[in-house]
Amino acid sequence: MQENIIIADKGPASQTGTWQQQLSRAVRDPAVLCQRLGLSDKWLPGARTGHQLFEVCVPDAYLSRIAPGDPGDPLLRQVLPLDEEAMSLPGFVADPLEEADHQPASGLIHKYAGRVLLIASPACAINCRYCFRRHFPYADNAPSRAQWQQALDYLHTDTSLQEAILSGGDPLAANDRQLAWLVEQLDAIPHLKRLRIHTRLPVVIPDRIDDALLDWLSATRLQKVVVLHINHPNEIDQAVVDACNRLKQAGVTLLNQSVLLRHVNDSADTLAALSERLFEAGILPYYLHVLDPVQGAGHFDVSDDEARALINALLPRLPGFLMPRLVREIPGEESKTPL
Ligand SMILES: *Cc1c(COP(=O)(O)O)cnc(C)c1O
Ligand code: SF4
Repeated sequence: MQENIIIADKGPASQTGTWQQQLSRAVRDPAVLCQRLGLSDKWLPGARTGHQLFEVCVPDAYLSRIAPGDPGDPLLRQVLPLDEEAMSLPGFVADPLEEADHQPASGLIHKYAGRVLLIASPACAINCRYCFRRHFPYADNAPSRAQWQQALDYLHTDTSLQEAILSGGDPLAANDRQLAWLVEQLDAIPHLKRLRIHTRLPVVIPDRIDDALLDWLSATRLQKVVVLHINHPNEIDQAVVDACNRLKQAGVTLLNQSVLLRHVNDSADTLAALSERLFEAGILPYYLHVLDPVQGAGHFDVSDDEARALINALLPRLPGFLMPRLVREIPGEESKTPL
């Protein structure tokens, strides 16, 4: 009986419907997550503990790429809360990037020359356990149209800005009406050249790349860059490849950033396979971030020495254009810092 339930739940039926329907049906209960993946009960108390701190959220399209019954699955490790999240470790803090200090307007972060981040949506379509935004005060950062005006005025006034980056949360968790409006406003700022979107949604729910999205994306005069967030080659299935193709046809340059994560992608074999798989999907590796020291994510940490050793092992294996740049974000610096 139990087995029948698992099989029924894993059927493709749950991956149909609009992206909003798929998101609303995402697994948000640690017990359901364990049951759907055939994990033993021993994982449940830890999953419940972590869930209290940062709730579980995994849509079916992503869940379907996780091997059932394998607690070490590299995709599972990114979404399954563990007891370790409740540990306090020295140096692991709530706001490791000190972003609260760089907000000239609500929903806007300006740290680097020529580009600003706009928090276009507080929500995500998946909750990644290592996320540096897990303690972000999103309630204060989901501006209404009227509140966007302050951020837009800032962009109009600062003529040194060339690029607006939609970020979040996940900016593509916002609805297309809002995004079309926002991008239209950005389009009208004469000194802006580029629109960049930092998103994991095309990976988490590939059906997010639908006609409504492609309509506003194709309409802008701005050059378009989408920076995806993929950490492991298993995250890229045919549906993701198809979504990437739709973006490319709309004139988007596709890049990827990964986070170096213990027991997810901390091997040269995995990182080489990731770069190869990315390129097959038409995506170039951009950054490999070392973990931001966010409270609750210490068990994902890989030391700097190990990170450098991995890059050195990767260099002779990959063409230069498939090498991600290993970087850290240091508060107060003018760019990401190469290791
Ligand atoms: C990472 C980041 C950017 C983008 O930096 P790039 O090096 O251009 O990718 C911009 N603004 C903020 C606040 C950032 O954290
Ligand atoms: S999608 Fe990105 S912002 Fe959202 S939880 Fe995952 S890592 Fe964090």
